[in-house]
Amino acid sequence: MVGAGAAGLAAALASARAGIPTALVGRHAPVADGRTVALLDGSVRFLKALDAWDAIAPGASPLCELQIVDDTGSLFRPPPARFRAGEIGLDAFGWNVESANLVAALRRRARAEPSLTLVESDAAGAEAGINASRIDLQDGGSVEARLVVGADGARSPLRTAGGVTVKEWTYPQAAITTILAHERPHNDVSTEFHTRSGPFTLVPMAGGYRSSLVWVASRIEAERLSGLDEAALAEAVERQARGMLGGMRIDGPRGLVPMRGLLASTPAARRLALVGEAAHVFPPIGAQGLNLGLRDAAALRDVLVKANRDGRDPGGRGVLDAYARGRRIDAAARTAAVDALNRSLLTAFLPLDLARGLGLLAMAHLGPLRRVVMREGVLPRFGAPELMRAG
Ligand SMILES: Cc1cc2nc3c(=O)[nH]c(=O)nc-3n(C[C@H](O)[C@H](O)[C@H](O)COP(=O)(O)OP(=O)(O)OC[C@H]3O[C@@H](n4cnc5c(N)ncnc54)[C@H](O)[C@@H]3O)c2cc1C
Repeated sequence: MVGAGAAGLAAALASARAGIPTALVGRHAPVADGRTVALLDGSVRFLKALDAWDAIAPGASPLCELQIVDDTGSLFRPPPARFRAGEIGLDAFGWNVESANLVAALRRRARAEPSLTLVESDAAGAEAGINASRIDLQDGGSVEARLVVGADGARSPLRTAGGVTVKEWTYPQAAITTILAHERPHNDVSTEFHTRSGPFTLVPMAGGYRSSLVWVASRIEAERLSGLDEAALAEAVERQARGMLGGMRIDGPRGLVPMRGLLASTPAARRLALVGEAAHVFPPIGAQGLNLGLRDAAALRDVLVKANRDGRDPGGRGVLDAYARGRRIDAAARTAAVDALNRSLLTAFLPLDLARGLGLLAMAHLGPLRRVVMREGVLPRFGAPELMRAG
């Protein structure tokens, strides 16, 4: 495996713990950008199965309710829709955790795993042979393996070396990200305002009085907002949130994230499997990116366990085809859903507004439909990897 981000660490831990000899290549590159990730129920089950969750849980905030407010000003504006995790028998849809804490906890877990070899050097190149691949290391050494897993992020040098092409696109927006301290408690409710320039989302953080913000706006507006001083930005956030959490104060680093997407033409090539952002990059809406990355890791573990049991070559064509089949559908479906949501907000087109409004209205009022949507959103039943399945 190459790349010691969250997806690579989880993939390496999962296969090593299943008895598959595994090495993880990559220096620990901590990122202290204050980013948080909302991990859905299936991802948390996976982290529990890896014995990593106990170290993450104290800093995690449960997401017990999701609230969607249509703030597009459309003629067909439905009332706010609320979704409660209890309705589908869960304590929480997921947990919001700080990215840096998650990666550090997985790293500690990886260090303590006797069957996992950590190679503290980055990869300098990779070459796929007939029976094995070789990874050249920046410190001059090399590693041979029958299967190489590229978890080396959005720019993935391994993806390029493996000849995998990508589809990349941008949106006319950018996202402002930061952490806010607020006067009123969030009560474990995550709120998403759907505005004409994109979603404005406040996600609860541990302690009750802090939330992380992802505010998608037009590029010009996002640049203007990110140029504001802390007091003015806090005030703008408070206004956009309609004062629902009271007075606000910026309480963490700020980021300005371009809105873009990327999808690899295939998640597998000769003796190569791609996981995480090496295979797909999402704009930061809908909490999809790492949840899908962890599903890649858990699904890869399943096909490797089966190959091991059947005595098959883990980097052979049949095993990689099995991995690619499931992952391709999952990534394409999530990409299409996030894209459709974002584009439907941007378009001031009445039939589209009506369809979106009716969809939300139906979900708010039709219990069975709502429960199906909630379940599929948290953990799609189709093809859920073994370590993500409930009970
Ligand atoms: C503002 C924002 C909010 C988000 N919110 C959510 C959310 O709520 N829920 C969610 O699921 N996702 C969310 N995401 C997405 C999530 O953050 C990413 O999907 C995730 O961090 C990607 O993890 P990764 O391990 O695939 O890639 P990375 O974190 O990029 O890790 C790749 C690793 O590979 C290493 N590497 C690169 N080249 C080499 C090499 N040659 N040799 C060795 N190592 C190498 C890098 O140093 C890095 O450590 C959000 C993203 C943003 C920007």
